[in-house]
Amino acid sequence: MDHFTYTALPLRVRFERGGRTKVGDEVEHLGRKRALVLSTPEQQHHAEELSDALGGRSAGVLATATMHTPVDVTEAALSAVREAGADCTVAVGGGSTIGLAKAIALRDDIPQIAVPTTYAGSEMTTILGQTENGVKTTLKDLRVLPASVIYDVDYTLSLPPAISATSGMNAIAHAIEALYAQEKNPISRLQCLEAIGALAGALPVIVDDPGDVRARQEAQYGAFLCGMALGSAGMALHHKLCHTLGGAFNLPHADTHTVVLPHATGFNEAAAPELAAIKDILSSNSVGGGLWDLAKQIGAPTSLADIGMPADGIDRAADLATQNPYWNPRPFDRADIHALISQAYAGRRPND
Ligand code: NAD
Repeated sequence: MDHFTYTALPLRVRFERGGRTKVGDEVEHLGRKRALVLSTPEQQHHAEELSDALGGRSAGVLATATMHTPVDVTEAALSAVREAGADCTVAVGGGSTIGLAKAIALRDDIPQIAVPTTYAGSEMTTILGQTENGVKTTLKDLRVLPASVIYDVDYTLSLPPAISATSGMNAIAHAIEALYAQEKNPISRLQCLEAIGALAGALPVIVDDPGDVRARQEAQYGAFLCGMALGSAGMALHHKLCHTLGGAFNLPHADTHTVVLPHATGFNEAAAPELAAIKDILSSNSVGGGLWDLAKQIGAPTSLADIGMPADGIDRAADLATQNPYWNPRPFDRADIHALISQAYAGRRPND
């Protein structure tokens, strides 16, 4: 740790139970007048509630957000923003809804308020993934960073246990990779260790009792820190594999992270001494094995076969994941990636 670079991102965070009722204050704080509230169709009721809380500052509700941020959905939403005379957006939901607000901000440069309801952490990053003609591409741009984030635990209480488990593992994946990523730094490290502890403690409680507000707050706090670490330190092999597999086989985002994480971590463990501290947090003699045990404990998937990847896709995935070189603490070749994906496909515990 003789040198590091840390980029602090300019956004305001309000972590408060009931904070959703203050959404109007956040609009005012931004110096804006009319907010269009975005959600998926499934969470339209959350959007309507926020629209009511905004009163005269609401420009209405647009419940069209969908997975992977398709460009045609963004373009229709841009027309709706202009027709409604909105000068900012409020995104209530997971990474899909926040992705739509980010995609609008990229094109129209209007500020966003994010009200996250999963543990994906997109609200804390300048990263945007978008899909066009079946191809998902990712960019980094400060314009897509929300101006303000409201973490209100009440909106997470309805997140089903199964999605809570995989979304929480998705958050842990950000922290694991931020520990050894190229832009790793001591500030992110503090966030990662605190976050993994909070999530590893909270997730088993949540799957037993999804209404446990204290555990939900711990998980939300952990997810916030994980998003922050991802936003400042970056990622490596694990995220690359998940993007490749998700894009190639249309696999669910959080499930893919959950399955691949123990194997990618097991692969990197010997080359990334930063990971050693996680053994104590997970009470395990290996980090990859401990993550696999945690996934099992919370009833999350542990095999790519179980989440819909075809067996004959392993070769193609190994080709795709090694087509463009990228940095990872342990160098790898196609045979390494083939073995890693095969292990994740079979669902065996890594490091055994
Ligand atoms: P999601 O946003 O697709 O949500 C999954 C489903 O759960 C949706 O139908 C949603 O409406 C519903 N849901 C969300 N919260 C709920 C709640 N509290 N109660 C009931 N239902 C709820 O899933 P996600 O995993 O949060 O996001 C995945 C997307 O986010 C992917 O496209 C991924 O690429 C992106 N992502 C981006 C970043 C980034 O930094 N850019 C980071 C993580 C994820």
